[in-house]
Amino acid sequence: MPQHLSIFDPFEGMRFGNHICFLCGTTISADQQTPVFPAWLMEEYGFAHEPLRLLDQSVVTYQDLKIPCCHQCQTQHLQPLEEKVQKALAQGVTGIRALDPKLLFQWMGKMFYGTLITELIKEQNPLVQPEYAVSEQPKMLMKFQAFFRVLQSLRVPMAFADFLPGSLFVIDVDASAEPTRFEFRDELSTMMFSLRLDNVLIVSCLLDNGMIKDAMKRVWQEIEFKQLQPIQAAELSARIFYAGYLLNVIPDYLVRATKPQDDHLVMDTLIDDVTNVIFNPWQHSSYAKLLATMWAKWGISQEDILRDPQEEPMSMLFSPEGEFIAFPQIPGQV
Ligand SMILES: [Zn+2]
Repeated sequence: MPQHLSIFDPFEGMRFGNHICFLCGTTISADQQTPVFPAWLMEEYGFAHEPLRLLDQSVVTYQDLKIPCCHQCQTQHLQPLEEKVQKALAQGVTGIRALDPKLLFQWMGKMFYGTLITELIKEQNPLVQPEYAVSEQPKMLMKFQAFFRVLQSLRVPMAFADFLPGSLFVIDVDASAEPTRFEFRDELSTMMFSLRLDNVLIVSCLLDNGMIKDAMKRVWQEIEFKQLQPIQAAELSARIFYAGYLLNVIPDYLVRATKPQDDHLVMDTLIDDVTNVIFNPWQHSSYAKLLATMWAKWGISQEDILRDPQEEPMSMLFSPEGEFIAFPQIPGQV
């Protein structure tokens, strides 16, 4: 493989540490770091000093969350991407929708990966013994390894043969009554990552080859260009996050054979589908449990959502007849 197209695989031998650039693997000094959440984003949405709870239950501020990154990767690869996203975000939902989905995948992916390797670097410290060690979950590590192979497209010129590695939903939310301008949610095991920036909500599954988006096609077509009320956006997030739990297959990625004169890599994908079931069966009770966490701020419980077990769970998006609800009536509010 030509040198400039060689891929770094930190999962081989678990090479994570404060002296290893997260993106290319170069040895660096401990002061060479990049924030997981880009500095411009923290400044624009004012969340740099907000607290963030990590998997080991320790609390840091967003600005404390940094990953090792060499100068080259910072200036040549991350910075240009940040500039493009910043410009797009200045145009709001329209700008983000118009952005190349591959760039949006890389941008969301880098933040997801940043929070992930913060955990992995910590776990390399012999004094830290987390209750739930990511590095001791072989199935999860395989997922992260596959994901990082395509995330290398941040640095190595790379074309995806006929797929996008993730599902990305860009949602327009009426956030005028929301107390904060920024919200963030991630779920390491299902590779879910969502961000709300004012009225722009981006929900993604970063390792499904678009299968969740495909499975939700009918719902998505109905609401893609509508503005959602926050309670509706929370419901849509719950549906997407729940689909992440149900997803039963893991995509893998292979580099197509290269010639010395090649200027980029081509990635092929394959899906391990020995069981042939892409999604495990939907269960109202587990979905309702997840939706209740997303609807907690409206005081709606799991029992409220499943009042009648014979019927569909409560929805603020669609009427029982399947019509989109433009102005949902929130239970308990007049
Ligand atoms: Zn680097």
